[in-house]
Amino acid sequence: MSDAPLPHESGPAAGTPRVVPATGIQLRDVDQDALRVLSRLQRNGHEAYLVGGCVRDLLLGRKPKDFDVATAAHPRQIKRLFRNGRIIGRRFRLVHVVYGPHVVETATFRADPVAPENGSDEEPGDLLITEDNVYGSAAQDARRRDFTVNALFYDPSAGEILDYVDGLPDIEAGILRTIGDPPVRFAEDPVRILRAIKFATRLGFRIEENTWQAMCSHAHALSRSAAPRVAEEILRLLRSGTVLGAFRMLRASGALATLFPEIDAYLGRRDDPDPAAHDRADLYWRLLEALDADIHAGAEPTPAVLLAVLFLRVVEHKSEAGGGPAAALAADLIEPLATSARLPRRAVEGAKRIIAMQHRFTQPWTQSPRRVLFLHSEDFPEALHLFRLRSAAWGQGWDVYEGWLERHRHAREMPESELAGLRRRGRRRGGRRRRRGARADSPSADAADGSDLAG
Ligand code: ATP
Ligand code: MG
Repeated sequence: MSDAPLPHESGPAAGTPRVVPATGIQLRDVDQDALRVLSRLQRNGHEAYLVGGCVRDLLLGRKPKDFDVATAAHPRQIKRLFRNGRIIGRRFRLVHVVYGPHVVETATFRADPVAPENGSDEEPGDLLITEDNVYGSAAQDARRRDFTVNALFYDPSAGEILDYVDGLPDIEAGILRTIGDPPVRFAEDPVRILRAIKFATRLGFRIEENTWQAMCSHAHALSRSAAPRVAEEILRLLRSGTVLGAFRMLRASGALATLFPEIDAYLGRRDDPDPAAHDRADLYWRLLEALDADIHAGAEPTPAVLLAVLFLRVVEHKSEAGGGPAAALAADLIEPLATSARLPRRAVEGAKRIIAMQHRFTQPWTQSPRRVLFLHSEDFPEALHLFRLRSAAWGQGWDVYEGWLERHRHAREMPESELAGLRRRGRRRGGRRRRRGARADSPSADAADGSDLAG
């Protein structure tokens, strides 16, 4: 595979697509609103297609997440045709055609703003894309996309697929390959490395050799990408149901070391002769595996739970090795993400607290107000979700988990007046202790800041 010609060097002349009957696609699988948008654009003389992920998924027999339209019409022309159209976006304007709760995203063909010359073997300079707002032709629009399988155009009225990038053979063979020269495409936008991992694991595709090599050699560049985009892709991987495979690839490519050096260090070197190092890594992988199983079973972990899964083992390992209290370690690890990646404050704070709360589940149950208030704290469901995942992963504590689940069910039946009384008593107790100079461990304080670290 490694000596296969790059798409732009082979096949049809640039600008002329291979046109193939869309025999594999059933029209009934195509969104009706998207079909309406396409037919109105076409009836008004504008070239228009379904593009991107939906065409890929239709050809693979998967259910597309959304149906995107690309057209030669400019945003104002589109808007004129659709009373329910809203122009959105400042940098690159596109039109949302709105049908009740459902939106068909309709974009004008655009060209790659960098468009490197074919055949140039010069070292690419600084290619990071910062502007992305040049209109173009269908051919240009196909070639600015990331992977060949993501750049097919589908015309439902003609029943045809237009392939400008040799994407159809890759769909058939299950190969993920960049369009154009891989090092150039990853230098332009290193987040494509995460996208490659997402698509390869989700679709069960093999990453083509040159694409993979370029992912490895550009993994370090992820540190230059916009942190919120990176964070969004990481959260998507965590929710994907294939996070185990994705994180193994992240690690193998070097992207994990760039993004989360602490996790990479925790996992250690793969050639480490010490079996303890492998056991340690194994605990991490098993937690990801448990998360995948949970997602397949229909769970929808909150961002706080997802972030906590990412860091739980690293925090606990450091804490066990005498690195200090889990709350402080979790804060050190997770806090930087709040600022750099602009992750929702709520998720970051929640992740820190529920990691710090884990030890409470294994303390013996008593009817103390402190315990009862823990059951009623806002974080309890997420803390328990994390505890369930670790029980599943590490094969211990299922009975403990079920005990807490049962108590939580009962707790919800407690009358509000009784709960308010407990809260008052808890506050008084905590106040007294603090005045005596003891550590703050009132129910309200430790539910809020996770500073209760005994046990
Ligand atoms: P999903 O099913 O996850 O939505 P998708 O393929 O639709 O997958 P999107 O992120 O929704 O992916 O993007 C839509 C399309 O836009 C992609 O199929 C691809 O053609 C193009 N695209 C998205 N991000 C990039 C990028 N970073 N570089 C180049 N092309 C991109
Ligand atoms: Mg999409």
